[in-house]
Amino acid sequence: MPEQEQTQRVIPGAKPFPENIVMSGIRPTGFLHLGNYFGAIRNYIRMQENFTCYFMVADLHSLTTHPDTSALKSGVMRVLAENIACGLDPEKAAFYCQSHVPETSELYLYLNMLAYKGELEKTVTFKDKVRQHPENVNAGLLTYPVLQAADIILHRASYVPVGKDQEQHLEMARNYVNRFNHRYGDVFPEPQAFNFNEELVKVPSLDGTGKMSKSENNMATLYLADDDDLIRKKLMKAKTDNGPTTEFAEKPDYIENIFQLMKLVSSEDVLKKFDEDYNSCRIRYGDMKKQLAEDMIRFISPIRQKAADILADETYLKNVMMTGAEKARESASKTMELVRTAMGLKYF
Ligand code: ADP
Repeated sequence: MPEQEQTQRVIPGAKPFPENIVMSGIRPTGFLHLGNYFGAIRNYIRMQENFTCYFMVADLHSLTTHPDTSALKSGVMRVLAENIACGLDPEKAAFYCQSHVPETSELYLYLNMLAYKGELEKTVTFKDKVRQHPENVNAGLLTYPVLQAADIILHRASYVPVGKDQEQHLEMARNYVNRFNHRYGDVFPEPQAFNFNEELVKVPSLDGTGKMSKSENNMATLYLADDDDLIRKKLMKAKTDNGPTTEFAEKPDYIENIFQLMKLVSSEDVLKKFDEDYNSCRIRYGDMKKQLAEDMIRFISPIRQKAADILADETYLKNVMMTGAEKARESASKTMELVRTAMGLKYF
């Protein structure tokens, strides 16, 4: 196709690109955990103060891996309540449910024509999911990054607060944006993964393998709904060894993970003390884990209690969803007008 000619097209109303738009989502596939908090929600709470934010419960995404929808409603309610308990303010941000904004599915369809089977098959998360669930390798799973790109660019967002596990998907979203703009005219800014601490976060699992996750290895993940005893139990079981035998030894991954968790919830003094103990071969992992458990409880238990109260108020949560969907659809319908114009889909 004569792409050179088409790049010259100016789409009325598309430029300048909107600034300071933020978009992110979490799947309602289980209880939220420490990784969701530090990888995503912590940034949502800071960004809602100074940016135009769209945060969504990604219920359509969950259908790719969770075809049984009997727990979907309770999962959606839980994600809403736990985010709000962490500090997300539905008055400041548009907080909505993905399926309440059907424009998402329209944009997903168009982007699918710009996504290639070969590159989708190479996506790390796709390969992981194929390994985990060889019996359910559906086309939705393959095109998961395309739907995610549609979610983001539906609001013409530039910033996407996500954890490190999502870096490759963001790269793919930028590819689709560039292909769209090149083929049909400039409509979308390039979205970037965003974290206030510069580096994207990966909260490790407690068994020393991989990351904390909603759907896998429950005892190796700390959930925001875990009670105090369970938090203690999980942390005391975290993998350690007999301690270093030489000063300033490099930390094995599973020990580094415990320090990393401590960095997230303990004070600097506490962290410094255990770091010095490690470097001088005096570390007692039992004491370290006990301290970490108490700091973790101080962090998690107020969120757990608040979430339980919010979850009990279904009318409030329904209102949050309705108001959020209204705000999201307003933004989405403006973008889709630009998209249809750019693509030549407007016949009158
Ligand atoms: P999960 O992998 O637990 O199902 P989602 O896919 O719903 O979580 O991801 C929601 C958000 O939480 C994303 O921004 C993702 O990057 C972030 N996230 C999930 N797990 C972690 C982790 N262990 N460390 C950091 N961020 C994470």
